Amino acid sequence: MSTSKNLLSFTPQEFVLFLKQQNIRRCYFVFDLKTKTVRVSHPELQPLAEFFQSDTRDFDTHEGIFLQVSNKYDTLQGAFVHRTWRGQAAGGVRYWSYHTLEGYLRDGLRLAKGMTHKNALAGLWWGGGKGVMAHNPKIEKHDATVRAALYQEFGEMMTSLQGCYVTAEDVGTNVADMTNVFSKTRFTTCIPPSLGGSGNPSVPTARGVVCGMKAALEFLGEKGLEGKTVAVQGMGNVGAPLIKFLFEKKVKKVIACDINQQLVENLKYEFVGKNFEPREVPLCDHSFFETECDILSPCATGAVLNPKSIPLIKAKIVCGAANNQLEDPRRDDAELFKRGIVYVPDFLTNRMGIVTCANEQYGYVNNDPEIEQHLNKKWTYSIHQVTLKVLRESKEEDVPPSSVALKMADKMSFVPHPILGHRGQKIIYSLVVNGWERS
Ligand code: NAD
Repeated sequence: MSTSKNLLSFTPQEFVLFLKQQNIRRCYFVFDLKTKTVRVSHPELQPLAEFFQSDTRDFDTHEGIFLQVSNKYDTLQGAFVHRTWRGQAAGGVRYWSYHTLEGYLRDGLRLAKGMTHKNALAGLWWGGGKGVMAHNPKIEKHDATVRAALYQEFGEMMTSLQGCYVTAEDVGTNVADMTNVFSKTRFTTCIPPSLGGSGNPSVPTARGVVCGMKAALEFLGEKGLEGKTVAVQGMGNVGAPLIKFLFEKKVKKVIACDINQQLVENLKYEFVGKNFEPREVPLCDHSFFETECDILSPCATGAVLNPKSIPLIKAKIVCGAANNQLEDPRRDDAELFKRGIVYVPDFLTNRMGIVTCANEQYGYVNNDPEIEQHLNKKWTYSIHQVTLKVLRESKEEDVPPSSVALKMADKMSFVPHPILGHRGQKIIYSLVVNGWERS
């Protein structure tokens, strides 16, 4: 392999090989608040530090990026810690395939930043972060032994990071994986109820998306979901219960798509007798966005709202669970706004997963008011109220809704934790001083 090849264009596995050749198992990129520069653990990785330093959009002064190569199965594992003023960086761990190292890093950065905004806007005392594992195509990722080893090593990484980041479940990760993470660290949520956790957060997440849809309809002067047609992209953990809730709200029709043929077949039987139209679609197909419907709900992956898909949209509302739906937040938010499409920012409406996880350590009560308040219409910080506030402010100020919500969330994300202050930053500096990269 040519070492002159730009590191960012390496595949994750080429990068793993590169790290191994340099005898690097762990490395970090830490933003120094005093010098406003990115400190890197190894000089060989300086080009990546420069990439972060020059990227104002996705990097946005992340407090720390920590990478490791798993001892078993040569998998690139990372923790992206964006901002910890409100508390420990919290967000799930994604297990996904990436073509390039840049794609991997950008996904981690965008997802972590999204968590900062989501947690702040929900009023949680958490910062924002994300874990990302890049699938090594040479391994069998469905093998339970392989998964156990990978997630246990990720758990060990959490422990080594001393709590600046608390992980959770995300796309590609399941509850069994979280049990493996939990076997090696206390810095995780979303563990199974049998171990004292709140379990899979997808059902509350789907309930939150329904709240966002209802608020958007109210903003448009419409009564509610009854009689509406909703198009749902992705019928996974969130999409499937969302479809169920939509039928409970008496929608006229649900059109849904997925790339997973088995899932499409299963859901067809689950909703038999309902006005349900499931479609199997290829991975890079944009045609679903031109579906005739009132509400389009992206519940699959990120970056789906972009210059290719936005011109196709026929819905008057876009509201879904997928994280980071806007490929380029500034450009795509403005484009939706220009087209008069009401966009409910993802980090506002998909908060319930993290809300449920965030409360795990406080124990459980029936119909927990700390959780239910996010879903009611009255509480100032409920999804309904915040959505209405954002959409009204957007209209009054003639500014796209995501920009309004981001401004609110950004301001809130710098409020220091009322008891512990900006402790996450201190933890990160301790890791640097202690030589985390050699641990
Ligand atoms: P999931 O993996 O269970 O479901 C996603 C589904 O989308 C899968 O069935 C997949 O086959 C499908 N898919 C992928 N690409 C597609 C495409 N191009 N077209 C159609 N279908 C496609 O994930 P999930 O837990 O349901 O989460 C969905 C989204 O919501 C993700 O972006 C996730 O980050 C976000 N989210 C989830 C939660 C949660 O509680 N699970 C919370 C907040 C945000």
